[in-house]
Amino acid sequence: MTHRSTNILTVLILLGLVAGALVGEFGLHATGVPVDGDHWLKATGDLVLIRPLKLLIVPLIFFSVISGITRIGDPSKLGIVGGATLIYYLATMFMAVTLGTVLVTWISPGVLAPEIQETLRETAGSFSAGETATRSLGSAWMNILYQLVPVNIFEDMVKVRPLGIIVFAIAFGLALAAGGDKTKVARDLCNACFEGLMILVRWVIWLTPIGVFFLVAWTVGKIGFESIVGPLGWYMTTVLIGLVVHGFIVLPLVLWLFTGKDPFQFMWQMKRALMTAIGTDSSSATLPVTIDTAEGEGGCSKRAANFVLPLGATINMDGTALYEAVAVVFLFQLFGIELEFGQLLIVVITATLAAIGAAGIPSAGLVTMVIVISAVNMNLTGSPNGPLPIAAIGIIIGVDRILDMCRTAVNVWGDAVGAKIITRIAPD
Ligand code: ASP
Repeated sequence: MTHRSTNILTVLILLGLVAGALVGEFGLHATGVPVDGDHWLKATGDLVLIRPLKLLIVPLIFFSVISGITRIGDPSKLGIVGGATLIYYLATMFMAVTLGTVLVTWISPGVLAPEIQETLRETAGSFSAGETATRSLGSAWMNILYQLVPVNIFEDMVKVRPLGIIVFAIAFGLALAAGGDKTKVARDLCNACFEGLMILVRWVIWLTPIGVFFLVAWTVGKIGFESIVGPLGWYMTTVLIGLVVHGFIVLPLVLWLFTGKDPFQFMWQMKRALMTAIGTDSSSATLPVTIDTAEGEGGCSKRAANFVLPLGATINMDGTALYEAVAVVFLFQLFGIELEFGQLLIVVITATLAAIGAAGIPSAGLVTMVIVISAVNMNLTGSPNGPLPIAAIGIIIGVDRILDMCRTAVNVWGDAVGAKIITRIAPD
């Protein structure tokens, strides 16, 4: 994409975001027009942007990973790149979750006046615990392990299970790289398919401003900005402070330490992807834009971006990890259950796992939070503090979408920083 069209697109997406927020707040929310889950605004946003982007996810993951792997080629180099990528994901998620836990313990947003606590607790129950009761810690591990050892790649593609597709693509990419001359045609074919898909991506990306407008109008129309100052205000503020600190201080510092590059310049270069994340609430749907922006304006190598970004959209979720920790400790505080150091440690570990297990789709973090609550509850058995009902999650559902916008942006930013760092060890 030329410099000029990139600039035009950025301005249009920004306009879509702002106009959507204004229409949502003043045209819908303030006038009391009811906005539900299948409102036409959301349906239009889905049709215009989410569905076309989703259409690209499976083929894009498949070909971009193969293309990344075969470009890196040398198996010893691959080991280093793969190892560094995994360490980066885990280390940054761990930092995010620790930051969230410290903040929520310090700010204590759930320690409210008893009558407010009571009113909030009464709203619990809108979350169906039944369907998620099986999401225990053990089954969460098993679920990830099963996805890591796929049996039928087509089934994974049909069900859009990225981990299985990535594992197969890595294995197949390695085989194609090892095949030398015999597999050269297949390597070239995969690279060419990837390039073709990226052209398609660039066409679809022009739909982003319109889609973002409808989706943001729907979200803000449904929830309204005043929720930030409502009874859940401190909870939301804690999550937002955490995301700002992680996104603007921690990750930039990590990037600067490992590359010496100006992190804010890179953030600016990645703005199209970050705004798309805010508009779509989904790192997977944003993936096509993230790859395009990282390799274009962001100056990441194809070898690094094609490998780090698809994998990151699935497993590296700094924003979600931080949010899960804050939300869980907040709910325990609201129910008057004080967590000790050991239990906070369980939150840190399981929230990281829950974030890895969360799919890159809207509200995924809200669902995998059940894992964290169950793990802490198990540790509470026998103590005078009762377990936290899973239905308590219902309390925060109403305001989740706005937080989801912000944590998804941090998730995508974390992936981008990873791609930039890995570009150092795997330049083009
Ligand atoms: N919406 C987030 C994402 O796609 C996941 C979540 O935290 O719900 O990255």
